[in-house]
Amino acid sequence: MIQINRKEFLTNLMVGAATTTTLLGGRMAAAETENHNIQTNNYPLFVSTWAFGKATNDEALKTYQRTESLLDAVESGIRVTEADVSNASVGIGGIPNADGIVQLDACIMDGPDHRVGSVAAIEGIAHPISVARKVMEKTPHVMLAGEGAQKFALDQGFQHTNLLTKNREEEWKSWQKGKDKEAHSDAHDTITLLALDQHGDIAGGCSTSGWGYKLPGRVGDSPIIGGGLYVDNQVGAAGCTGKGENCMRYCASFMVVEFMRSGLDPQSACIAAIKRIASTDPLGLNLEIYFIALDKHGNHGAAGVGKGFQYVITTPENSQVLQSEAIGEGSVGAEGGNR
Ligand code: ASP
Repeated sequence: MIQINRKEFLTNLMVGAATTTTLLGGRMAAAETENHNIQTNNYPLFVSTWAFGKATNDEALKTYQRTESLLDAVESGIRVTEADVSNASVGIGGIPNADGIVQLDACIMDGPDHRVGSVAAIEGIAHPISVARKVMEKTPHVMLAGEGAQKFALDQGFQHTNLLTKNREEEWKSWQKGKDKEAHSDAHDTITLLALDQHGDIAGGCSTSGWGYKLPGRVGDSPIIGGGLYVDNQVGAAGCTGKGENCMRYCASFMVVEFMRSGLDPQSACIAAIKRIASTDPLGLNLEIYFIALDKHGNHGAAGVGKGFQYVITTPENSQVLQSEAIGEGSVGAEGGNR
């Protein structure tokens, strides 16, 4: 895993000035660089959450190079993370709810047609991102939840799969016996993937098992359009990870995109959204929320409350895990499933 801070990253870009336009320079936030010229061979651009997003991005890139479809790229990239049993926060191997059942949330969004598909609290289906895409493409609806979502998936030919791995089951059993039922309540992450092609078109998706040992039926921000993800093909896209309740209450991803619409570069928009929420919320900065964003021109950025939020930028020429801008003190919870 490559871990460099933002300053080092910018310094590297300066040192490699001659190649900046073929690296990521044109994609940095406008406040950080004057370079807005993006070379065609720097597309597609993928931005995702957490270090595990690297495998997601790399697969998305391969798929795009084969199919030239942003939706195929987003779906296939996220499927990699959903299939990774070692990832305790996404897909198979995710931490179950308080009843020991893995319930998954996912959504996908297509910029050019402003189409959306979403599934919430779906059980027994290994790839909710693919079900979300079917909801978008095969139904007149935006979101299916619970049993209805599962029935739809089975009707569409998805197989029933046991999502609860032995490890997660053992952990859940000891959590149940434990006196401190909150012990693992901070264990959660989401794969959120934003994608931009050379035509300026954008797509995005996210997938998660949500808050570990959540109340059965709890739905987080990830499948909520404007909460965990928002794509506006005229402006850009943003995604959220962290404590979903604190994103949902503020339509956080929509807010980041609207800040970009009003002229902020992606990173400044992420920072502005955190500050705006913190200025209203009784929790102040104690929010545990992290944003990624990209704009239509290929600028990108990320910010989170406290240190430690990593995100991944991938183009045909480079795929790197970066540290986000940190707002306030503290750092990402050490007990998080994949952090
Ligand atoms: N936002 C997700 C949820 O609340 C979890 C995470 O991204 O950490 O379900």
